[in-house]
Amino acid sequence: MASVQEIQEEIRRLKKETKTTILVHAYQSQEILEIADHVGDSYGLALLAKKEENPNMMMCGVRFMAETCKILCPDKTVYLPNPSAGCPMAEQLNRYSLIKLKEEYPEYTIVAYINTSAELKTETDVCVTSSCAYTVCKNIENDKILFIPDPNLGSYIAKKLPEKQFKFVQGGCPHHVAITKEDVLKAKQAHPKALLLVHPECQREVVELADFVGSTTEIMKFAKESTHQEFLIGTENSIVEHLQFDCMNKIFYPVSTNLVCPDMKATTLMDIYLCLKGISGEKIELDPFTLNRAKSCLDEMIRLQEK
Ligand code: SF4
Repeated sequence: MASVQEIQEEIRRLKKETKTTILVHAYQSQEILEIADHVGDSYGLALLAKKEENPNMMMCGVRFMAETCKILCPDKTVYLPNPSAGCPMAEQLNRYSLIKLKEEYPEYTIVAYINTSAELKTETDVCVTSSCAYTVCKNIENDKILFIPDPNLGSYIAKKLPEKQFKFVQGGCPHHVAITKEDVLKAKQAHPKALLLVHPECQREVVELADFVGSTTEIMKFAKESTHQEFLIGTENSIVEHLQFDCMNKIFYPVSTNLVCPDMKATTLMDIYLCLKGISGEKIELDPFTLNRAKSCLDEMIRLQEK
């Protein structure tokens, strides 16, 4: 039986041989982070892929991330090593339900969190990431915004922009919304010196108790740069482990042990190995209509961010 280190070595050899760049979302396991060329969030990884010389990209994350990479890098071949890794939030609406919503609210600008399928992006006016959502929504010329698919991120932004009218649809990340106010109070009582850092995908009553609210990348940056020693982390629990590896003189605790995304944990080292061998995995294919329409809402995000 091969060891984890032996499989990692074989992956490193195969990625060179096949000219493949391995992009790893920060919610993946430590053993996958160790074979990454880049670690980050979905949009940041797609931007890094654009600069790569390799013709092949492997996105270790969930389907919408691989699709975003393909939209921004149409000339690259993008692989999803485990095709079953989806995102319940990204797929909670389909294109036809969004078209119906647009008919219901014709005067609203459709703003989609980047955690949406490529299909949904084709009917979206502008995309946002959790870190640029405030700036983009503020700079939208229209005062009426229909924000999909995460009402928690949407209402966090809406609270900062009282001059705009927001509408939301039900849903959100089933794992981030699983953290309750009671979980937070219990964790704070157990670790009274710890700062609470949470993702805006959490429920409003959780966000209101936080010392810092930000995207995964922003949470990691804040924790690394802070002079504080103890932190309660309110996002996917792999971030607790990664921060602990990066900052061995600090202590990180999960707010709740429930905050584990099974889709983010679906990809294994063996999936990556077998995908590099051409035995399994999926090549992401998007038709020209989807590529063009989905790219325009990402272009609009960049325009509004820089306005
Ligand atoms: S953590 Fe939530 S938003 Fe992220 S992939 Fe999992 S279900 Fe989707």
